[in-house]
Amino acid sequence: MARRILEENKELSNRCHVQWNGVHGFEIRDGGFTFVVHLDKKYCDCRLWMLRGVPCPHAVCAYYYLNQDPDAHVEHWYRKETFLKAYSHFIQPITNMRMWPETTNPSIEPPVPRKMPGRPKKKE
Ligand SMILES: [Zn+2]
Repeated sequence: MARRILEENKELSNRCHVQWNGVHGFEIRDGGFTFVVHLDKKYCDCRLWMLRGVPCPHAVCAYYYLNQDPDAHVEHWYRKETFLKAYSHFIQPITNMRMWPETTNPSIEPPVPRKMPGRPKKKE
């Protein structure tokens, strides 16, 4: 999914133009709108970058302006290494629930219903 979004954003970045750039801050013109991009904070005014973790068309435009590959700035949780690390531990087998030790602590009961203030609703 991240790959598909990034490829779409690369296509969409063709219509964007860098108006001004500081060290990490960019002003990107996209049609009739101007977006501010901060590459160091991974921030864009359109907020898609923060929502998805994939550089938005404006960030892609800024990275292309710097001759950098936007693929390297996709969040780590989309990477294969993160996936393999998450599933590298096996779930240990456990005994049947009936064989679990009984607890001496009191059981947790739901709270006692109490009458709320105001007139009760009429049944229809
Ligand atoms: Zn953006």
